[in-house]
Amino acid sequence: MRNLAATATLAVAAVLSAPAAQADPTGTAAPQPQPLTAYDVHDPAIANLDPVLRSAVQNATSAAATEGVTMTVTSGWRSPEFQQQLLDEAVGTYGTYEAARRYVQTPDRSRHVAGAAVDIGGPGADQWMITNGPRFGLCQIYANEPWHFELSTDMFGGCPPLLPDAADTH
Ligand SMILES: [Zn+2]
Repeated sequence: MRNLAATATLAVAAVLSAPAAQADPTGTAAPQPQPLTAYDVHDPAIANLDPVLRSAVQNATSAAATEGVTMTVTSGWRSPEFQQQLLDEAVGTYGTYEAARRYVQTPDRSRHVAGAAVDIGGPGADQWMITNGPRFGLCQIYANEPWHFELSTDMFGGCPPLLPDAADTH
């Protein structure tokens, strides 16, 4: 049986990592803009990504589309200020700094701030990317974040072992 608490935690983390593109569950917010994709190069979240990562996600997006999977980018590059805001909000959500750090990195260590990570969205996109991402050099990094990908394959196209969560990046 699926652990409901873990599922709820994942959902909260998804909202944290994707505040701009996440649908508003209460329906009270203004209409959301079109979901961002890796091809929206005018948006700073995409424009400031490592160009190699951006190309890899674009290629994966196109490949997924040929299989009927729509892949969006819920979070790409983040400013240090926005990363700090996410961390502060997570402390409020999880109660302690240590708990928050399991989901949100500090600005100086965030791979999003470095332009080296993307969070993807879209129905089935996580699973598609976990299966097919390595073909494009893209790996899931954290066991508790199936939507977070970085360029991390080795010379044989394999991905490194999953880290438990974002706190474990030493
Ligand atoms: Zn991420």
